[in-house]
Amino acid sequence: MQHHEVHRRWERRIVSPAMILLLALPVGHALARCGGSPDSTARRSVSWAARTMGTYVRITMATDDSIAMSPEAGRALAVFHRVDSLMSNWTATSEVARINREAGGAPTRVQPEVGVVLEASLRLWRQSGGAFDITVEPLVRAWGFIGGPRRVPSDDEIRAALARVGAQRIHYDPPTRSLRFDDRGVSIDLGGIAKGYAVDVAAESLKAHGVKDALVDLSGNMVAIGSPSGATGWRIGIRDPRDRIPYLARLAITGEAISTSGQYEQFVARDGRTYGHIIDPRTGRPSEGLISVTVVSPSAMECDGWDTPLFVMGPLEAKRKAHELDHVAAVLIQPAAGGVDTMWVEETLRDRLILEPAARSFIQVRYF
Ligand code: AMP
Ligand code: MG
Repeated sequence: MQHHEVHRRWERRIVSPAMILLLALPVGHALARCGGSPDSTARRSVSWAARTMGTYVRITMATDDSIAMSPEAGRALAVFHRVDSLMSNWTATSEVARINREAGGAPTRVQPEVGVVLEASLRLWRQSGGAFDITVEPLVRAWGFIGGPRRVPSDDEIRAALARVGAQRIHYDPPTRSLRFDDRGVSIDLGGIAKGYAVDVAAESLKAHGVKDALVDLSGNMVAIGSPSGATGWRIGIRDPRDRIPYLARLAITGEAISTSGQYEQFVARDGRTYGHIIDPRTGRPSEGLISVTVVSPSAMECDGWDTPLFVMGPLEAKRKAHELDHVAAVLIQPAAGGVDTMWVEETLRDRLILEPAARSFIQVRYF
């Protein structure tokens, strides 16, 4: 929890010289490491951070001129505040909140960026056989992951929320950006994909302004550009979902995106059980077959989008789906009660994933 405290101090103060720090803290899901070549002393990994989208963002650049890079970092950080104002599921003032109030009554025209995410969400809904479904909002709310407080709802509450779920009730017309819901009971939640979208846009902004070596990290949703200090890429840690050690394995990433969704991020604990924040839209209950899903893909929106339904699908179906999708490579952690958890690594990542020696006693790695 230390990382949350560290970031809370920075709330709403975006870029100021005081925020320029050497990357020294292992924060969040992943740890970016400088390659540290001895003759590149002028180049350092410098980070800018902010609290946004219900979590924290950190932009790290390998640079020898952090002052010159500050405006680029500021522009990229502003992306997150803009996307938050559009897609937040926690405020009454976001564009998504407006849509949820209006689209059940009459068609409404949505902002272009919301349109992009809606289209991707509906494609994911179809491709995932309904496991990814932005109409889960009433269920996410019933469990208190939106609006709070977190709780275990009664069977009746789950039934009532389930009756409002199903993306076939959303009608979106991309050319006119017109959106309509079948009835007023429908509500959307872009929380399973909006973070990835924002990371892609922020990374595009950095690249468009000539930034060559950077890592954008919004709570485990990352894009890696170039590499620090001439290394082969940015080394990303896959966090131990049971918190025995900080990272179970590391993976070098460059010119692509990675995301990890874990049950440890947000959950309700009751009667010795933990219920995670990813809900199976078919049962109305948190899915339980996996405790962590990592996706590597060219785009952060695809990573964030897919980590959620792979979680819902559970190990067997998730492995099949990850194989089927050429642009998605996955690492899945399947829990074993009291035993050795299994880390399922897709073949395409076999040569890139390095297991931490300390993890060998409680994780078995299998490839698929
Ligand atoms: P992520 O941050 O990618 O792990 O997404 C988790 C968030 O996605 C939750 O906090 C919910 O807001 C939302 N969500 C939960 N279950 C689903 C689902 N089955 N399909 C789409 N979004 C979901
Ligand atoms: Mg997601």
